[in-house]
Amino acid sequence: MKVPLLDLKAQYESIRHEIEPVLLKVAEDQAFILGPEVEALEQNIANYIGAKYAVGVSSGTDALLLAMMALGIGEGDGVIVPTFSFFATAGVVARLNAMPIFVDIDPETYNIDPVGIEKAYAKYKGDVNIKAIVTVHLFGQAAHMKPIMEFAEANGLHVIEDAAQAIGSAYMDERRVGSIGTAGCFSFFPSKNLGAFGDGGVVTTNDEELAHKMRLMRVHGAEKRYYHEMIGGNFRLDAIQAAVLNVKRKYLDSWHESRRKNAQKYNELFASQDDIVTPASVYEDDSSPLHPFTSLRFPHIYNQYSIRTPRRDQLMANLNEHGIGNAVYYPVPFHEQKCFADVPSARDAFPVADQISAEIIAIPVYPELTSDMQEYVANTIKSFL
Ligand SMILES: *Cc1c(COP(=O)(O)O)cnc(C)c1O
Repeated sequence: MKVPLLDLKAQYESIRHEIEPVLLKVAEDQAFILGPEVEALEQNIANYIGAKYAVGVSSGTDALLLAMMALGIGEGDGVIVPTFSFFATAGVVARLNAMPIFVDIDPETYNIDPVGIEKAYAKYKGDVNIKAIVTVHLFGQAAHMKPIMEFAEANGLHVIEDAAQAIGSAYMDERRVGSIGTAGCFSFFPSKNLGAFGDGGVVTTNDEELAHKMRLMRVHGAEKRYYHEMIGGNFRLDAIQAAVLNVKRKYLDSWHESRRKNAQKYNELFASQDDIVTPASVYEDDSSPLHPFTSLRFPHIYNQYSIRTPRRDQLMANLNEHGIGNAVYYPVPFHEQKCFADVPSARDAFPVADQISAEIIAIPVYPELTSDMQEYVANTIKSFL
């Protein structure tokens, strides 16, 4: 049996009758950049997230870049980021000539450690003007926003939510991620839970002035074409992506639900296995042990289902032999990246991220995964270990 890590063709088959007409309409209209489909998507996403404004952009990376540019982050500034994330989270900070300040992660959720934020702030605030904290909602699970928001407010810091993997995920069953901090940055890269037919992204915010500034900066800082009030870039979203996303958005919650069901099933299949660490299960199980992080009930959207084992590399080879898709998110934390060798905080200690990055592996959890396939994946892993 072959089981891919993700099967976008299966998803397409289920909605092609709705997608094909909207693609044709864009072809007939020949209006490709921004426009009514993008505006409809922005309204759609703002409503879904529970944020006042949404600004459609060219990618998740550009969502982060635009939010930071609009907040005036640049040379001499510092931005606190988790050391364990997709490259863009820290890459955009460096691109703006600001200094990323790396912080270790929580051992159960793999999200940024709130206590680590406070320590890093105290250590580096004399060297740079620390302006913001980026909270990544890794794999689709909300970071521990409450203490982070309290710390940020007490110290006048912005909180930028990197919600690229977490559209629709919520914090403590209440607010959806992307509506809590100063700005929420989402990606529509095809492998995210809400994926386009190419690159795309969106920034959400409740701050009217920030939304306005991002709209200008998205089109080279011009309110009136060819009259530039500020320096921006080309961060525009196109109509084809928005048309596809407006269709897919209707199915998003049912896809999340299928992913949760699959995750829950894996948790059960691996429950008797001491040598596998499953993701902190804080959504289904009210009786999960009390822990400052896991006692919270976050509706995880499982963009990835990652397990841990010290024999990760051997397991990976074994899964490859059995035709089972898998991937390591992420093998190298930021503090170990060559391009960040000169970043002062790269020399700090990150014991949790070091261990997790050596042990973690993602396995198929996509909505169309059948129970036969899932059992095959679980049995292959169990018999290997
Ligand atoms: C995917 C992703 C991004 C970047 O999104 P792109 O659309 O690929 O530019 C940023 N941060 C995280 C955590 C991501 O997973």
